[in-house]
Amino acid sequence: MNEQGKSQGQKLFDELKYESKNGWDVITDEEKRQVFNFNEAYKDFLDKGKTERECIQEIIKLAQDQGFKSLEEVRKSKKGLNRGDKIYVVNKAKAIILAVIGEKGLKEGVNIVGAHLDAPRLDLKQNPVYEDSGMVLLKTHYYGGIKKYQWTTLPLAIHGVVVKSDGTSVNIVIGEDKDDPIFCITDLLPHLAQEQMEKKMKEGITGEGLNVLFGSIPFQDDKVKEKIKLNILKLLNEKYGMKEEDFVSAELEVVPAFKARDVGLDRSMIGGYGQDDRVCSYTALRAILELDIPQKTAVCLLVDKEEIGSMGNTGMQSKFFENVLAEMCELTTGQYNDLILRKTLSNSKCLSADVGAAVDPNYEGVQDKKNAPYFNKGIVITKYTGARGKAGASDAHAEFVGEIRRLFNRNNIVWQTGELGKVDQGGGGTIAQFVANLGIDVVDCGVALLSMHAPLEIASKLDVYMAYKGYYAFFTA
Ligand code: MN
Ligand code: MN
Repeated sequence: MNEQGKSQGQKLFDELKYESKNGWDVITDEEKRQVFNFNEAYKDFLDKGKTERECIQEIIKLAQDQGFKSLEEVRKSKKGLNRGDKIYVVNKAKAIILAVIGEKGLKEGVNIVGAHLDAPRLDLKQNPVYEDSGMVLLKTHYYGGIKKYQWTTLPLAIHGVVVKSDGTSVNIVIGEDKDDPIFCITDLLPHLAQEQMEKKMKEGITGEGLNVLFGSIPFQDDKVKEKIKLNILKLLNEKYGMKEEDFVSAELEVVPAFKARDVGLDRSMIGGYGQDDRVCSYTALRAILELDIPQKTAVCLLVDKEEIGSMGNTGMQSKFFENVLAEMCELTTGQYNDLILRKTLSNSKCLSADVGAAVDPNYEGVQDKKNAPYFNKGIVITKYTGARGKAGASDAHAEFVGEIRRLFNRNNIVWQTGELGKVDQGGGGTIAQFVANLGIDVVDCGVALLSMHAPLEIASKLDVYMAYKGYYAFFTA
C-alpha cells in the first residue's frame, strides 16, 4: 500500500513508534560503495595487528602519514600545542592516545572515543616448553574470556616479543606467511571421546590442556634425555638467538593464523580474529585521522587490558589518560594548573567504543529481541552494561544519550539501541565505568558482533562503516 492508501491510525502509528531500520534499505548507492571500500582497509588492519603491540605499530604508521607528531617531538619544538595540531602518545608499546587540538580551549572539554586493542588469546607461560610422548609442546595461560574448546584444531600463529638476558629484544611472528609453519592444539578423536563428551562444555577442554604442538624431531645424541626439546631449543637459538630462560621475560601470544575474510555470498560481513575491539579501535582511528580542525579537541584513546578488567599501567584504570591530558593542558596554555585539568575532565564527553552481541538465530532465547542489536541496523548505543541488575555499569545519563541520538539522526547515521543479553542471562563491562569515574559523560557505542570472543568473530560491513561515521560525527560535533 502506498502512503496515500494508509489509514489514519496507521499513519499516526508510523509517526509515533520507534523502529530501527536495516541500513541497506536507507543508504545511497554511493554510500554502499563506501561501505565496501572502508572494509577493505579494515581487513588489512586486522591482518597487520594481531596483538596490541602490532596494532600500535600500524597505528603510528597510519597517524604519521596523516601528519600526526609524537608529543615528545612537540615538546622538543618548544612551540606548545596549537589549534589543528595532531599528536600521538604511546604508552609502553601497548596503548596510544591520538588527539587533534580544536578551536576551543581544553577546559571546555574534549570529545573522546575510547576503545581497546587487546583481544582474547592464549599467552605462552613463562616456562612453556616441555617434551612428552615424543613431542614438544608449549604451555599456555589464556587471556580474557574464551570458550576453550574453540581453540582446538585451529591453525595458530605465535606473535610477540622476547626480552633476552642482555636486555635486547627480538620480535617473533610465526605462522602468518604462507611458507611459515603453523601450530595447533589437538583434540580427542570422537572414537575415544566417550568420557569427554559426557562432560560439561566448560570442562571438556581444560585450561591446562591448552598446550600447543610445537615439534617432534629429536636431536641426534643418545646421551641427551630430552632430545626433541633440545632440537627445538637449538632452532630457537639459531633463529632468534634466545635461550630457554628468555621465555621468562617474553610476551608471546598464540592467535589464529588465518586472515580476515569476507563472509556471505553477498560479501556483506567480515570474519576475522580480534574484532572485539579492533573494530571500534580502527573505526575511531580512521575518524580522528580524517579530522581537520574540530571545535573541541578530539581524542582517540586506545587502551590495553580491557579483557582482563582494565588493570595494569596500560589499562583504562591506569593514569595514562589523565597524565597525557595534563601534559596537553600545559602545552596548550603554557602552564600547568591542576584545576584546568579537572575542568577539562568534567566537561569532557566520551563514546566508550566497544562491541555488542548481535542477535544470532542459532542461539534463540538469550536476548530480549526488543532491546538487542541486530546486524545491519547500524552503530549500537548501549546505555548500560553490567550484569544482575546493572551491577558494574556506568549507566549513561538520559541527557547524554539524547545528545548522541540527536547527533546521529542529524548526520544520517544508521543506529540502534541494544543491551547485552536478557536480564539475568549474564553480562559484561567495558572501559565506560572507568571513564565515568573521571567525571566524564560516557555511553557505550559500538559494533555488534556474532561469535564475540571466538577465534573467528563476525561483523556486518555496514555496521563497521556506521561506527566510523558515528565517531567522526562525534569528533566534529
Ligand atoms: Mn570489548
Ligand atoms: Mn571482550
